[in-house]
Amino acid sequence: MTAQPTAIHRKDYRAPDFRIETVELEFDLQPEATRVKSKLAVAPQSAGAALKLDGEDIELLSVVIDGRKLLPADYTADEHGLTIATVPSSAFTLEIETRINPKGNTHLSGLYQSSGVYCTQCEAQGFRRITYFPDRPDVMSTYRVTIRGDKKANPVLLSNGNLVEEGGLSDGRHYAVWHDPFPKPCYLFALVAGDLAVNEDEFVTRSGRKVALRIFVEHGKVERTAYAMDALKRSMRWDETRFDLEYDLDLFNIVAVSDFNMGAMENKSLNVFNDKYILADHETATDTDYAGIEAVVAHEYFHNWTGNRITCRDWFQLSLKEGLTVFRDQEFTSDMRSRPVKRIQDVRLLRGRQFPEDAGPLAHPIRPDSYIAIDNFYTATVYEKGSEVIRMIHTMLGEDGFQKGMKLYVERHDGEAATCDQFVAAMADANKVDLSQFQRWYSQAGTPEVVVEGSYDPGSGDYELTVTQVVPPTPGQPDKQPVQMPFGIGLLDAQGRDIALKADTAAMPRPGMLNVTAPTQTFKFKGVPKPKAISLNRGFSAPVVVKAKQPGEAQAFLMAHDSDAFARWEAGQQYATELLLARVANPAKPFDPAFIEAIGLTLRDDKLEQAFVAEAITLPSEDYIADRMAVVDVDGIHAARRALRLEIVRTYRKQLEDIYSRNTTPGTYSPDSTSAGRRALKNAALSYLSEQADEDAGLRRLIHDQYSKADNMTDRAAALRLLVDIAGPEREAALADFYQRFADDALVLDKWLMLQAISTLPETLENVRSLLTHPAFSMQKPNKVRSLIGAFTANALRYHAADGSGYAFHADRMLELEPINPQVAARLLAPLGRWRRFDAARQEKMKAELRRVLAKPNLSRDVYEIASKSLEN
Ligand code: ZN
Repeated sequence: MTAQPTAIHRKDYRAPDFRIETVELEFDLQPEATRVKSKLAVAPQSAGAALKLDGEDIELLSVVIDGRKLLPADYTADEHGLTIATVPSSAFTLEIETRINPKGNTHLSGLYQSSGVYCTQCEAQGFRRITYFPDRPDVMSTYRVTIRGDKKANPVLLSNGNLVEEGGLSDGRHYAVWHDPFPKPCYLFALVAGDLAVNEDEFVTRSGRKVALRIFVEHGKVERTAYAMDALKRSMRWDETRFDLEYDLDLFNIVAVSDFNMGAMENKSLNVFNDKYILADHETATDTDYAGIEAVVAHEYFHNWTGNRITCRDWFQLSLKEGLTVFRDQEFTSDMRSRPVKRIQDVRLLRGRQFPEDAGPLAHPIRPDSYIAIDNFYTATVYEKGSEVIRMIHTMLGEDGFQKGMKLYVERHDGEAATCDQFVAAMADANKVDLSQFQRWYSQAGTPEVVVEGSYDPGSGDYELTVTQVVPPTPGQPDKQPVQMPFGIGLLDAQGRDIALKADTAAMPRPGMLNVTAPTQTFKFKGVPKPKAISLNRGFSAPVVVKAKQPGEAQAFLMAHDSDAFARWEAGQQYATELLLARVANPAKPFDPAFIEAIGLTLRDDKLEQAFVAEAITLPSEDYIADRMAVVDVDGIHAARRALRLEIVRTYRKQLEDIYSRNTTPGTYSPDSTSAGRRALKNAALSYLSEQADEDAGLRRLIHDQYSKADNMTDRAAALRLLVDIAGPEREAALADFYQRFADDALVLDKWLMLQAISTLPETLENVRSLLTHPAFSMQKPNKVRSLIGAFTANALRYHAADGSGYAFHADRMLELEPINPQVAARLLAPLGRWRRFDAARQEKMKAELRRVLAKPNLSRDVYEIASKSLEN
């Protein structure tokens, strides 16, 4: 039995005993035996400390201090690192030689190969899989990197910073030397070597510096990088105009690889991307893919200031860079596209991924207090809730105040490894405000629940709003304190107009923006007309669950009239949720006509953006409904949601058909957001129509026609999405055709795998099982694993099959994946941890699978952490 992994605690942070001023690296690349020489300028910070370096899965060849080779007795090396008990007390040079095996590296952390291309992934702790080093973000150094490789196999040799030298070597090899003048932590180191094609462009910064831009991809795919390049240039310009931040080197490189654990990585001047977030053309990428590319390219670029120039002191501060950078990429998208639609989509994502996390066994604050494997904390909480917390600061301070705070943050901490407290202090100091209560958002987990009750006194004309907040207990945090939040509200008069509200400084600093701080607080609005409805948490100003009782007619009224687009959408979601929950409880209960009527008004309102209408007519997901039930009724929710959709299509068949034909985009495909919005609406209409396709051969033909005649992937994939749920010849023909068309395109086949895995048909598990041996699938490739197995675990109906077959299949695959890629296995294991939400029989089956995973010998820290916490909490 191996020792159980132990947790690292935030309170144990200590400044490093040794700084590393400069790092010189030499790589002699060989697929199975790459030699790495490192030469470190070590600066001891306290006398007498032993030098402890991290190292994992690497072979130590030699250690030299100030030119003297150490003997084995001078150091100890184990599976976690290298310790040298006695070292000089003042500055010294340490040289270490190691040997690593990039080709055999299936973890995709450290130096590995993706389709023969050498690439690195060092965040969070991959650098230790390359050489022995103090692998922590507060050790910042300048890097000089020499890469030697086979000229034919690796014509492209890249690392961070500037290219300072290159040339030929004997035996068909060549070399390049890179120097990065900006001190950085080792997690931002990167190396790429391979045979790649390149798209070259240029950006001139506002101060006139010319920056060479290069995107490297597999040969034959350069044409598909045009949109990513455009997104990069727009990101660079936007960061100058909106955040006053300019790029700082003369070159910026992006490399796209097909094997990658996450979306992309912000290594200094050498971003490495999952090619899913670079490659796009209209035949292979959907509108959603284009939007994802724009957002991820921007996100990684924005890290240059929020992450790289100012990095994190320790990994507990991860949200310092991630929450802030997500906020920045969300704002970028909002400025490029539709702000209300972006807000709606971000809230959907938050509710779909983060709220369940915050309510489950893995709940943690955006700044966690402890971890076993830090890779498990690249979560929706740290990223998405982290961004919501930044957004609340922005809402409270306003754009000008927020930018003042950013400026002070950069002035104070440029070139440093900072903390979340320091960021908040810069915001508070620059605006002379007290954010001490607000900081509880950093330390408390759990989604606050806000109960709102309103009362009107017709005599005085006063309206009172009582706001009560409860932050629920989460694992390790039984008692919570009230948080400060900006809470947007509006009162609507009988004509649907906003009733003017007078601001006062403390409780309502701006009209309609309440400053909520107490467990219970009453806000009084004097001398107002009787409101017809109240609009709550406008703009989703606080990431909370709102509980308020308003009659159905008031919700329908908000759906039709709210001046806040987010709240207008939200009214429909909340109304639908109520109706669906009531229907699950009583399958004979009819749906309110007021809701159906409000959907009709939305369909007819031609002042609304198409993309907004598409969002507004899309009912809350099955998972969202499930999260609102004490015990999830998997089949009941599915049936209720289909019934409501069917009622909508029965009532509005004609309008939906009209919308479908009116929004078929003519002419050549353009990925711009207006065109994408029309396609989104058209495909939302088709999705409604498909509810009647089982009994209607004409509809099946319509869907199949869209599939086969589509001139873009958005429409083709949307039709296939519907066909996979409709048993019959159209389904089989389309799936076969899709495979034939795209058999040599890995990214498109990911869609093919995913669509089969999310099918509601009863034979889905059997189909998924047989796809495991299909050439389109590979357990070594994270994109494939996520598309087939990850997607299946999100298939509420089939994953949660009452016989437990879905759970057993899931656990079997995780046990296979765990030794190959523990990071990805750990991330994909989380759905089993939601067992508390289900009935006793399913609970037992889910727990049994978790126990089976936990019993595996030599379990990785990553999977151990998720499986054990999922069972304990
Ligand atoms: Zn990031």
